[in-house]
Amino acid sequence: MKIQTALISVSDKTGIVEFAKALAQRGVRLLSTGGTAKLLAQAGLAVTEVAEHTGSPEILDGRVKTLHPKIHGGLLARRDSAEHLDTLRQHGIDRIDMLVVNLYPFRETIAKPGCSFADAVENIDIGGPAMLRAAAKNHGTQEGGVTVIIDPVDYSRVLAEMDGPSGTTSYGLRLELATKAYAHTASYDGAIAAYLSSLTEAEPAQEAAPGREPWPRTLTLQAQRHQVLRYGENPHQAAAFYVETPVGPGLLGGYRQLQGKELSYNNIADADAAWECARSFDTPVCVIVKHANPCGVATAATSEQAYRQAFKTDPTSAFGGIIAFNRPVDGATARAVTEQFAEVLLAPSYSGEALAVFAAKKNLRVLEVPQGEAHNAFDLKRVGGGWLVQTPDDHQVPPSEFKVATRKAPSDEQMRDLLFAWKVAKYVKSNAIVFAAGGMTVGVGAGQMSRVDSARIASIKAGNAGLSLAGSAAASDAFFPFRDGLDVVVDAGASCVIQPGGSIRDDEVIAAADERGIAMVLTGARHFRH
Ligand code: 5GP
Repeated sequence: MKIQTALISVSDKTGIVEFAKALAQRGVRLLSTGGTAKLLAQAGLAVTEVAEHTGSPEILDGRVKTLHPKIHGGLLARRDSAEHLDTLRQHGIDRIDMLVVNLYPFRETIAKPGCSFADAVENIDIGGPAMLRAAAKNHGTQEGGVTVIIDPVDYSRVLAEMDGPSGTTSYGLRLELATKAYAHTASYDGAIAAYLSSLTEAEPAQEAAPGREPWPRTLTLQAQRHQVLRYGENPHQAAAFYVETPVGPGLLGGYRQLQGKELSYNNIADADAAWECARSFDTPVCVIVKHANPCGVATAATSEQAYRQAFKTDPTSAFGGIIAFNRPVDGATARAVTEQFAEVLLAPSYSGEALAVFAAKKNLRVLEVPQGEAHNAFDLKRVGGGWLVQTPDDHQVPPSEFKVATRKAPSDEQMRDLLFAWKVAKYVKSNAIVFAAGGMTVGVGAGQMSRVDSARIASIKAGNAGLSLAGSAAASDAFFPFRDGLDVVVDAGASCVIQPGGSIRDDEVIAAADERGIAMVLTGARHFRH
């Protein structure tokens, strides 16, 4: 069915004049609302105002513009029903075959500092979503239906199909665009619900006070299915990867896979852990992750050196690892990495030489992740029948606020290793004990139910890798509840320790550190990771 009439009513007017011109050139009649009609007319297009078309003027400051049977009948009549088409004729209603609508900018409005309640409410679009839902419902069948467009990026695709052999849009495209429209109205209403639920009865017109988390009473997440995965954490679990929209730079969801086998569920989880750790460093760093824990982290002058050092921490575990760099990967780094078996690589970019090296390793998954400052708004954890929601662990106490608790203060070199170990410990599952020396991890103890055992394991692993912990720096992700954990760390060879402090037995632990002749730094904030 040829597209005869299009209704255009857009707040975001990007590309609309060009698109409307292209439609007019293809013989499509244009209907439009006040502001949009004015813009199109100024561009020299023949356009009929909706008010003229319906015989009802826009009223109530634009609250009612398109809410009329001539509009909704034209959108909703089934194209394959003689009865419906006959009803249109009886009531003098024209078919509307295409709807181009994007909504009042509600999210953008409430994001503005000082946005008043009245402003927010006036930016709740009514007629737009009603038309979108009607048009999307009637996207029709193979025989014909309404084409609904909410996003300027789709203008060119629609024109391309209209210029194709059928002279109209395909069912596949109409279905896709209808899905997009419903996703859009759902998220739009979600944003309104979240806004309203952040207001209190006593102060309906107030903004959510800064510092008070405006936890919405309902939570709406907007994500698109990016990939159906072969299976989940285990082969008997089905799984998919959903990417939040819009995804910020610096987040794994913005990745591009340059080569290699399809990513698995566990690949993505580990890649996220590796990338989060790598991007937290300012200096060139390499992070090797296995089962969501860093098994080697090092910073050095070049990515290649960083890789070689990180690998030394635990070569056994690094086999089949997920490796992240926070700097572009060059040919030398690529050659070093491909000496061993790796599952996934992540970096902000790769040189042509590096890509040529990887090309010989067809299975190696190579991901490019855009660098940048961004963080997830929320951390979500699934529990039976619900979610736990928290703000991300992005609180950083500046080192200038750290306190030396012992008689002995760390040397500059010890302090560098302490800060490095502390940074890594944040990304190791609790209880975490990390030994570091010379800008590399030399022992990592992760995920134990007791801090003492994490310390013991870190020390055993260092021994297995042929590394010495003598004189190293040790970090603990949370306080030592007793002196026993500290004793194990010092027995293993640590010359200095960094930990949050805050235990009721801090005095006992500090006295133990003094007794053992080490320096101990308290950070004042812990980093549990479960
Ligand atoms: P214009 O700039 O053309 O005057 O208005 C375009 C906007 O009006 C679009 O964002 C569209 O979704 C919205 N709109 C269209 N019809 C109605 C209506 O009946 N009520 C309200 N509140 N908004 C409408």
